[in-house]
Amino acid sequence: MKPSPFDYHAPTQLSEAIGLLSELGDEAKLLSGGQSLVPLMNMRLARPEHVVDLNRVTGLSDLSVDQDRVRVGAMVRHRQLERSAELVAANPLVAAAASLIAHFQIRERGTIGGSLAHADPSAELPLVACLLDADIEAQGPSGVRRLTGSEFFTSVFTTQLDESEVLTGVAFRHLDPAEGWAFEEVARRHGDFAIVATAATTLFGEDGRYAAAGLAIAGVGAVPQRLDAISLVGELPSDRLWRSVAAEASSRISPQGDIHATAEDRHDLARTLIIRSLSRATQRAKGGDPR
Ligand SMILES: Cc1cc2nc3c(=O)[nH]c(=O)nc-3n(C[C@H](O)[C@H](O)[C@H](O)COP(=O)(O)OP(=O)(O)OC[C@H]3O[C@@H](n4cnc5c(N)ncnc54)[C@H](O)[C@@H]3O)c2cc1C
Repeated sequence: MKPSPFDYHAPTQLSEAIGLLSELGDEAKLLSGGQSLVPLMNMRLARPEHVVDLNRVTGLSDLSVDQDRVRVGAMVRHRQLERSAELVAANPLVAAAASLIAHFQIRERGTIGGSLAHADPSAELPLVACLLDADIEAQGPSGVRRLTGSEFFTSVFTTQLDESEVLTGVAFRHLDPAEGWAFEEVARRHGDFAIVATAATTLFGEDGRYAAAGLAIAGVGAVPQRLDAISLVGELPSDRLWRSVAAEASSRISPQGDIHATAEDRHDLARTLIIRSLSRATQRAKGGDPR
């Protein structure tokens, strides 16, 4: 299959790319790793008249770790996230999530900026950005805008980005060394998009009770969903507690059935993955190896 004809632009400066987007409006599409856009173009589900390639734009491919944040440029590939020792030390959850995306050939090309901007409801990196409330940076004709991971995704394949804005980078907080984490998903086959995915973080107080916890889920709605209102804080960890959290979470989601799974399957998967995530994040926080 071949895409419909388009003009190809290869800017080297961010300002040039933004200028092209402003001039060409909805006739233009940015190209990063091309792992979502090119299949859509080949199937003619997307027919941009102009493709603006970000691959030669300087300054978008750095991954740096400072005292309390990990800053990832939009053109950092999934494979870099997976393999960066610095990232694994500062925030192993982001690296683990990236390692579950598709097959390694796709991870070699696909970028974090492309994944967040594409906003697939089952994608791994949007789920982590939502759970950790990442700081997402967008640049457009009127300057830089910062958006939080929990407000960035607005609907299926839709974000708060304007058509003339480029997502330039994302910053994640460090995980506390005592913080447990887990990323769990179920897909039909290795490398497929998840049907349902969950991510969790946990931190304990000296009394052995949860001092902080985060939980989020993808694949059960249009956008990844944080389940903040279900608090574990002050509770002692137990299978019973995790089951009650999972039951409450299940009552708060309204998944749709599709060709991959029925709505009931997604409820069942959500409950199972939440229990698994909380159990594994708890084991990690307590210094155990959950695998
Ligand atoms: C077989 C297969 C399996 C896959 N499985 C998974 C999976 O399990 N999990 C998963 O998360 N992904 C999966 N993917 C998608 C993959 O992760 C893509 O890399 C990702 O969704 C998009 O990143 P990209 O860099 O390739 O973006 P592109 O395909 O280049 O772009 C995607 C969209 O985002 C826009 N865009 C790109 N960069 C920017 C930017 N910096 N600012 C603003 N807009 C931008 C583009 O205009 C386009 O609309 C799969 C892909 C394939 C082909």
